[in-house]
Amino acid sequence: MSTKILPEQETRPKTSHGDGDHERFSHYADKHKITESMVTGTPIRALCGKVWVPSRDPKKYPVCPECKEIYEGLPSGGGEGDGKGE
Ligand SMILES: [Zn+2]
Repeated sequence: MSTKILPEQETRPKTSHGDGDHERFSHYADKHKITESMVTGTPIRALCGKVWVPSRDPKKYPVCPECKEIYEGLPSGGGEGDGKGE
């Protein structure tokens, strides 16, 4: 039994700050949240789980492949994304 429990600070979620990865893509997210985020500047979580601040000009960036995959895997018919609580 040598399992050591790491201190709390070691288990913090990885919030990327400055790696720029999430800023090079245009992610999919809830339309309302994107609009709100553009106004408030608050980062939101995209479909792929990345937290980023939507750009005012999403067409400038390629679509995040992860988001695209998730988006295309969603059941068609609506696209509002308010069905499941996840
Ligand atoms: Zn994404």
